[in-house]
Amino acid sequence: KIHVSHLKKNFGNLEVLKDVSADICEGEVVVILGPSGSGKSTFLRCLNRLEDITGGEVIVDGHDLTDKKTNINKVRENVGMVFQHFNLFNNLNVLGNMMLAPTELKKATKAQAKENALRLLTRVGLADKAEAYPAQLSGGQKQRVAIARALAMNPDIMLFDEPTSALDPEMVGEVLQVMKQLASEGMTMVVVTHEIGFAREVASRVIFMEGGYIVEEGTPDEVINHPQQPRTIDFLSKVL
Ligand code: ATP
Ligand code: MG
Repeated sequence: KIHVSHLKKNFGNLEVLKDVSADICEGEVVVILGPSGSGKSTFLRCLNRLEDITGGEVIVDGHDLTDKKTNINKVRENVGMVFQHFNLFNNLNVLGNMMLAPTELKKATKAQAKENALRLLTRVGLADKAEAYPAQLSGGQKQRVAIARALAMNPDIMLFDEPTSALDPEMVGEVLQVMKQLASEGMTMVVVTHEIGFAREVASRVIFMEGGYIVEEGTPDEVINHPQQPRTIDFLSKVL
């Protein structure tokens, strides 16, 4: 569970998140929409403290991220993150990428980590790519490896920042399919994406952000099919 209350984030004099409050419950899939520069990535990065928090409160699974005594590495072990550009280690093969964190952080022995990695690769349809290096994979395959790698830490929460934006169109579907499956298994997910179809089909809630605020939120039907705020209407008219 994620509790965000009056979150503020500045970069120097630039106020990027001005006052953001949200509660994300277990098993929820929250899709964040909004124009470029509205603060979507910054918001996501505050949820695992990849960014220092300027003000307000972020509590993840009972851990207060603004409290200096909180062991942020422990929190991060339970929060997986998938980025637009995969961020795989190019000098390691797929198994190496997937076994690194679980073994380094002593969550698993090598044998356990390998078995778990192979199980997860099967789940994302890449069992045959265990020995491949990132350079030998398509964009869609790399992103599925990145998702499997995040899952290898057995997280409670998964954060996705435009996971399909860097992919060729024909590869978007295979990544969304993996995310859909994860959602149906009850994973708590926060997803920044421009894939309106995914939001309609999979989101339990849609949040529309602009200018560092949440402008509108509700069910996909409310926000996407019947938006109330002029800025949401304007944004959707451009992306739909
Ligand atoms: P996009 O859809 O283009 O990814 P976004 O909604 O994710 O946009 P953010 O990346 O959160 O937007 O950026 C919000 C604002 O914060 C932008 O004006 C950006 O330039 C600024 N910003 C983001 N990261 C930094 C940083 N590390 N230092 C300074 N400014 C930053
Ligand atoms: Mg972004």
